[in-house]
Amino acid sequence: MAAILLDVDGVLHVSREPIAGGAEAVNRLRQAGHRLRFVSNNTTQTRAALAEELRGMGIELDDEELQTTPRAAAGALAGRRVLALTMHAIVGEFEGVELVGEDAEAVLVGGADETPETNRVFSYMNLGRAFHELEAGAELYCLHKNRWWQTKQGPLLDAGAFVAGLEYAADIDATVLGKPSTPYFEAALEALDADANMTWMVGDDIETDIAGGQAHGMKTVLVRTGKFRPDTVERGTVRPDGIISSIAQLPDWLEENRI
Ligand SMILES: [Mg+2]
Repeated sequence: MAAILLDVDGVLHVSREPIAGGAEAVNRLRQAGHRLRFVSNNTTQTRAALAEELRGMGIELDDEELQTTPRAAAGALAGRRVLALTMHAIVGEFEGVELVGEDAEAVLVGGADETPETNRVFSYMNLGRAFHELEAGAELYCLHKNRWWQTKQGPLLDAGAFVAGLEYAADIDATVLGKPSTPYFEAALEALDADANMTWMVGDDIETDIAGGQAHGMKTVLVRTGKFRPDTVERGTVRPDGIISSIAQLPDWLEENRI
């Protein structure tokens, strides 16, 4: 039996609409004895809220099985003075972090969402404030550095563009806290007490999930849902171990491949 890391957005749902067959697939994976961890790059909800939302889609999981980037940020930035450009909903997750408006030791950039709050969080004034702190010596962190994500309305610009902009302006590199960072994948493997080479990363993002998983020694399955684009596979150099229509096919695919 394998350890399986499941991406959430684009694998189990798109814009909070469940992917057909996802809940049944998760049940079958559990019944087959696989150990599961839900490894999300979500930046806009608390772990409790996201877990509850997934349960509302019929997916059985405990809060503790869900790994989220705000909690990784709390671990990495505990005890430090942080200027956070993040959605208000996740601020409660930053336990032990001192959130400040100026004189910060670190700037933390979260992800965008589909609401007008994104306009406020990533306003020129806030980005300018962040730039000022970076110029004064603060370190730059981000929950992820995704270029875009898939929504019901189509692809939307994600906050990776703002991270890259701040890196460019301040001439520094950001530390990524979510996927595909080493600490984030290692935390997932540790939680399952799994070796990378016996672990499968399942996701819709060829860079973050598939190339990221491979770089950490894992086997990978790409789903053709969410942000999947055929041309990124056909033209790119990243080769997942498997490509399936959706999470619904994963239990059969694993059985057929004797995993
Ligand atoms: Mg995804």
